[in-house]
Amino acid sequence: MKGQFPLERFRNLPTPFYFYDMNLLRETLAELNTQSSDSNFHVHYAVKACANEAVLKCICEAGLGADCVSGGEIEAALKAGIPAQKIVYAGVGKTNREIELALKADIFCFNVESVPEMEVINELAALHQQKARIAIRVNPNVDAHTHHYITTGLNENKFGINLAQLPEVIDKALHASHIELIGLHFHIGSQITDMTAFQNLCVRINELQDELAKQGISLKHINVGGGLGINYEHPNHCPIADFEGYFKVFRKQLRLREGQQLHFELGRSIVAPCGSLICKVLYVKEGSEKKFVIVDAGMTDLIRPALYNAYHRVENLSSDAADEKYDVVGPICESSDVFVKDYFMPRTSRGDILALRSAGAYGEIMASRYNLRQLPGSYTSDSI
Ligand SMILES: *Cc1c(COP(=O)(O)O)cnc(C)c1O
Repeated sequence: MKGQFPLERFRNLPTPFYFYDMNLLRETLAELNTQSSDSNFHVHYAVKACANEAVLKCICEAGLGADCVSGGEIEAALKAGIPAQKIVYAGVGKTNREIELALKADIFCFNVESVPEMEVINELAALHQQKARIAIRVNPNVDAHTHHYITTGLNENKFGINLAQLPEVIDKALHASHIELIGLHFHIGSQITDMTAFQNLCVRINELQDELAKQGISLKHINVGGGLGINYEHPNHCPIADFEGYFKVFRKQLRLREGQQLHFELGRSIVAPCGSLICKVLYVKEGSEKKFVIVDAGMTDLIRPALYNAYHRVENLSSDAADEKYDVVGPICESSDVFVKDYFMPRTSRGDILALRSAGAYGEIMASRYNLRQLPGSYTSDSI
């Protein structure tokens, strides 16, 4: 499957850079739209996964909304053409400036994470003579069984309102003068490939809705967040996430009330597979026990392996020789700046071009200038 990369073009471009396969992105979006075509389903793309302009534009063209976690993301979503009526806004630490920006744009919904935040939104909405639509982010205490750094739906996490406190918070929202409570929001974690976690979420939401119905409360919108995982091991065999299985869970297990609208916030599953980090081999260094392939990309370009031991498949695009065993490492002055260890790859030499696959989500957007490095560039299959 090396043919999918324009290797000869890559040789003339300054490395490292992100490369987005726009055909794969469009195929992914088409499949997503097919599987979520129910008239009451609404998908908001989680902008924090990747805010690359070309990628955002393509996602906007497919008709998706946006899930934002900062004022900057709201601005990026609007700039890409995503209408404000399709923008939801979450985050535990919204600043006054960000809340006012969202009010001014008249976004669809604030996903509110605490009572003090709700009070500030109410005050600012009053100041601007507006009514803010909000959903309360509920912490459903459902274990996503994923890496603990990317688990968000347990009581120990900082996100959302605990079930025990929910009735009181709903009551406050219903009595706030410049707030319209329109829904409930959930998000249990990321890179979830075991659908039972989403089933458990549905069960919890059903219980909660029954409880609320007893109190005469029914809200128009249920937002189940994102978190669908992808197959990092086999990017060539499984290039598109299991949207069919994912949406089926909610269609089957979630008991929606009459007219209720169901919202999703998918990030990784939409953009991870289409992105690769392309880098060049600087040196092959033979240690006493190991051979190191030192590349010109590091944890500053793609932090996931250093941050949570994440795996990205590495492909040598310019060698077909027999496999040898390498550690592929970056140039940063940190021992965690390692992409893969004891990894079998065709015999590699200085100047070879490598692709770190499935890097479209939480890749480019997390790049930093640590060591005063340049930020990685980016190209798409449309522009190259
Ligand atoms: C990060 C995030 C998402 C997207 O998660 P993915 O795992 O990328 O699908 C959705 N909703 C909220 C509130 C988030 O913070």
